[in-house]
Amino acid sequence: MENLADKLNREPPEVLRSLKLIGAIAGEFGYPVYAVGGFVRDIILGVEDFDLDIVVEGDGINFTRELSRKLNVGWTAHTRFKTATIHIPGEVKIKLDVATARQEIYDSPAALPRVSFGSIKDDLRRRDFTVNAMALDISRDNFGRLVDFFNGRGDLRDKVLRVMHNLSFIDDPTRILRAVRFEQRFGFRIEPFALRLIKESLAQGMLERVHKHRLRDELILILKEPSPVKSLRRIAKLRGFRFIHSSLNIDQKTFALLKRVDELYKWFAENFVHKHKHKVEKWLLYLIVLLENLSVPELKKTLHSFAFHKNDIQKVISFKKDTAKVISKLKKEIPASGIHKILFPLSYEVVLLMLLKAKDVQIKRKIQDFLRAYSGTQIHLRGDELKELGLRPGPDFKLILKELLDAKLDGKFSTKEEELVYLKNEILSKKLSR
Ligand code: ATP
Repeated sequence: MENLADKLNREPPEVLRSLKLIGAIAGEFGYPVYAVGGFVRDIILGVEDFDLDIVVEGDGINFTRELSRKLNVGWTAHTRFKTATIHIPGEVKIKLDVATARQEIYDSPAALPRVSFGSIKDDLRRRDFTVNAMALDISRDNFGRLVDFFNGRGDLRDKVLRVMHNLSFIDDPTRILRAVRFEQRFGFRIEPFALRLIKESLAQGMLERVHKHRLRDELILILKEPSPVKSLRRIAKLRGFRFIHSSLNIDQKTFALLKRVDELYKWFAENFVHKHKHKVEKWLLYLIVLLENLSVPELKKTLHSFAFHKNDIQKVISFKKDTAKVISKLKKEIPASGIHKILFPLSYEVVLLMLLKAKDVQIKRKIQDFLRAYSGTQIHLRGDELKELGLRPGPDFKLILKELLDAKLDGKFSTKEEELVYLKNEILSKKLSR
């Protein structure tokens, strides 16, 4: 059997230290211990991966308790499957998932399996693809020994995704989405027999039978890939997006827009990210475009049934509802304060996507100006300075601040001194004279 100790020794010191500590503690318990799954695949491929899946042939919970004590960090137990998670802070942030070796039995298609404890071989057999079904022994005596019952190493060399058995995509159809994701990420090929199984499972409508939250998680993982559009095209070709909504159709226009999301996000990240405290979720940009052909009621129903986060739902719907209205408002001659008033209440994801939708150069410029300057504009005077001028917090106070900000946006002043003069002469004096 191949030994990957050399590759392991080239891991960042934090990772190596954790692996060795895990091996040593497992030795004290007398448990065989392995790193498994994607981490092993990525070690062989030379891809950075700090999500470590650890499997012990023994009680994973007791083991993790001791590990977290030695590492002096907290842990979370998931008692149902005797699994536990530890986050190790530091320059390299490591996530450790520890599980007890187990086997799974699927009583009915697309439902969750029955689970019982088993050997490392059982644990590897229940996995999605052979390339994800390898283990690395990290016990002290065999550190780095590759455990490969299903020729994952050969398939990895050949860049092939092969399933573990014929019923794989019936038992768990989310594996179809995983296959597409890995195929596109690594440039692998879904092996012909597996592809046939995928098509059969899709033709039987299996994907539509999966719990929606599991589909949601896999969809988000696809949208978080560096180039998700390739995976989306592949899904469109295989069966389309019926698993999201029966009438969801992604036409060439939508694909063209999806492709532009990439450049759009890059442009935003290069020019603006440092200026904005609001983080733009790239995966959400894709989701918003992907769903743009659904109506507002369809969107609401679908997004709620998939239990997307409330804020994310609101953004998808806002794009659908507000885009045309906002673009039409921006057609008019308006001062900077007017542009600010229109765009500020919207999320950054929605504002950014409106850039793609707006055809008119003037409108695009207004949106860009908002992102570049207006959205970050603040007045100079601080709350306590305003209080010194006799202003008291309340509805009036807020209106005054807004008026001051609008005046600043419209270029009525720039320095703090000018701002103070403007406040006294243009705002407060008028208020007093009313
Ligand atoms: P990534 O690099 O995207 O994190 P990964 O392979 O590490 O990929 P995870 O979702 O973290 O993917 O899963 C870890 C491992 O668990 C996989 O490598 C695979 O062995 C197994 N696994 C995950 N999901 C499934 C599934 N639906 N069916 C069977 N095995 C699975």
